[in-house]
Amino acid sequence: MAELPSSAAVVVIGGGIMGTSAAYHLAAAGAEVVVLERDTIGSGSTGKAAGGFRAQFSDELNIRMAVENIRRLERFETEFATGIDFEQHGYLFLLGESEVDTFRRAVSLQRSLGVPSELITAEDALGMVPGIGVHDVAAATFCAWDGTCTPESVALGYARAASRHGAAIVQGCEVTGIAVSNGRIRGVSTANGFISSPEVVLTAGVWSPRLAAPLGVRMPVRAVKRHIWLTRGPDPFPRRLPLVVDFTTGFYFHREAKGLAMGGRAQTIEDLAPAIINRAPALLEMEVTHNWWGYYAVTPDNNAIIGTAPGIDRLHYATGFSGHGFQQGPVVGEHLSELVLGSEPTFDLAPFAMDRFETGSILPETAVI
Ligand SMILES: Cc1cc2nc3c(=O)[nH]c(=O)nc-3n(C[C@H](O)[C@H](O)[C@H](O)COP(=O)(O)OP(=O)(O)OC[C@H]3O[C@@H](n4cnc5c(N)ncnc54)[C@H](O)[C@@H]3O)c2cc1C
Repeated sequence: MAELPSSAAVVVIGGGIMGTSAAYHLAAAGAEVVVLERDTIGSGSTGKAAGGFRAQFSDELNIRMAVENIRRLERFETEFATGIDFEQHGYLFLLGESEVDTFRRAVSLQRSLGVPSELITAEDALGMVPGIGVHDVAAATFCAWDGTCTPESVALGYARAASRHGAAIVQGCEVTGIAVSNGRIRGVSTANGFISSPEVVLTAGVWSPRLAAPLGVRMPVRAVKRHIWLTRGPDPFPRRLPLVVDFTTGFYFHREAKGLAMGGRAQTIEDLAPAIINRAPALLEMEVTHNWWGYYAVTPDNNAIIGTAPGIDRLHYATGFSGHGFQQGPVVGEHLSELVLGSEPTFDLAPFAMDRFETGSILPETAVI
């Protein structure tokens, strides 16, 4: 494990998907970068994610980023020599009557941006996944580009590549504060000592607000617990199973390792049961072997906050991904490196700056699971 250096050109706080991707892009561009992670790489929300990626968003910027993120995840194994279990089996959204118009508009926007998503009937959905309940499904959407992979492997792949490019990855190192004087960063205090640096990338996930608050930077991010339950044993669903989402309740399930994974907004399996009975009753017959939970970092409009903090020179942030951050890691990490390096942004992510909540130019994302 790397020792804590006494100084660095850039300190990245947090070794989740955002911090590792930013560190890789920075180190590959020749920057002297140190990542400080209080636990281990991927131990925060990243390691708890379902690993889903999709082009089925409602916000145009999210769709355009998704197209690029999916391309990058698709070539990740080759580019980073790291297996990530990349599988494009599609996402199938099952919709209630009142949701169909919103999804029809989203599909039309997605298709105008080159995404092959489609609005299909409940019968088509049943044909795709025999065994689901569709009696109260008004319509569905499907996109074959969507799928899943293993989030912590992507974070590890980025961390290893960053390290190969000279980045120091310091695990087991909790940041206790960011030192600022006269609006300029002086360094970062940690449980293992002080590191001087003029620039910080704050990617501590749902824990970012508590490091930003003492600097007068208020991040509108709420921590929401989300659970996943894993089953094992044979199931009646097709081998090639899309990630099925019951949009009204948020219940979803997909293949994971040798069984199925299911989750949603419910905080207990008992609370999830009514949605399971309605949509995928066969799941109730299966043995649940284990479960885990992690935090969604949720903002008021269900979109990320990304940018450079107002009033503090060179404090860049990215958090509040509202449950779809894993898949945005490739593009957002690159963007954070561009903010540090002052280079032309590949994607203009200025609309994600957190001052949108003061100016009123919010970016509501409706396709939130
Ligand atoms: C159950 C569940 C399912 C999900 N499913 C999906 C999905 O299918 N697709 C998708 O795109 N997204 C999904 N997400 C969301 C996704 O996990 C997050 O949006 C994403 O991982 C956020 O990455 P991050 O790097 O911002 O945060 P994190 O992964 O939380 O990384 C932050 C890191 O900072 C470290 N840290 C915190 N405080 C400090 C400190 N003081 N000092 C040093 N280090 C610190 C933490 O230990 C952590 O490792 C899911 C989330 C959950 C909980």
